[in-house]
Amino acid sequence: MKLYPWLIKPYNNIVQQYQKKKAHHAILIKTPRGIGVSLLIWFISKWLLCLKPIGLNSCDKCHGCKLMSANNHPDWHNFTLEKNNLFSIESVRIINEKIFTCSRQGGSKIIFLSDTGKLTESAINAFLKTLEEPPRKTWFFLVNYKNLNSHSTLNSRCLIYKLFIPEEKKSLYWLKKETVKKNRSCLTALRINQGSPLYAKKFINSNLWIDRINFYECLHDSFKKNNLLKILPLITEKDSQVKIDWICFLLFDSIKFYFNENDNLTNSDQIELIQFFSYNYKNTILDTSIRTWLHCKYRLSNISGINCELLLSEQLLIWEKILNFS
Ligand SMILES: [Zn+2]
Repeated sequence: MKLYPWLIKPYNNIVQQYQKKKAHHAILIKTPRGIGVSLLIWFISKWLLCLKPIGLNSCDKCHGCKLMSANNHPDWHNFTLEKNNLFSIESVRIINEKIFTCSRQGGSKIIFLSDTGKLTESAINAFLKTLEEPPRKTWFFLVNYKNLNSHSTLNSRCLIYKLFIPEEKKSLYWLKKETVKKNRSCLTALRINQGSPLYAKKFINSNLWIDRINFYECLHDSFKKNNLLKILPLITEKDSQVKIDWICFLLFDSIKFYFNENDNLTNSDQIELIQFFSYNYKNTILDTSIRTWLHCKYRLSNISGINCELLLSEQLLIWEKILNFS
């Protein structure tokens, strides 16, 4: 396993703190999703559990390193949850049990809590006590994906370390090397995924990427044939809300294009289609279109049991009207 290039600096920064023996026992990392925070914590933990670290790197040879690499180290406690589960008081009790027994390998013990946003109120209160007086050589890594100011007491018990979305240029370089795809495709995948290189890689290698290309082709075709209902099967088939996002991204791009913001287009691989919209429709019309699509998406996600096909065909007819189809 290798650390992603954008995580090397944060890794060095944090490990140096341990090296100087100045590290806080609990580090709370605030980060956007999709840049690999779990891997960062895993690498730092490996260094902490390495018996003979070489500078800022772990040796990769000792028993500690081998156990970590086999995902089998008894003093590395990874509390990662399934999607909709929460950390309850019971989870905190298990954490306490782990840290108040001796470390199995005689060195450090590490607790990794993958998302503090999933701690229930009572779990936070219990966990605060744990953080107050932890046993020696116990290190906590907590991750928070949002709520910058929530749980101020929890924040105050930890050292806060912030990760940011990597610079676009760097992500692009990495993504091109990883996927061997064209510059334009990589840039588009990055921007659709809010700059997350990991999500972009997953996206560009998925069937959804192919669906997206087909979807735009079909959309273009339905305009040429003056019949928007042609895209109905594609939108209703699956991922309807994602496809509405694609339409909106494209309409936004057409407005940006009008204002010569060509460097900031999301779909830099769809210039032809963007030009088509921009040349043929006024910005006010594009803007109204976006609003109706967002409204449609809202209804789709918030009204349970709604007839998806009916709603989408209605929206397509509304859109035809807005665009003045004859
Ligand atoms: Zn080692």
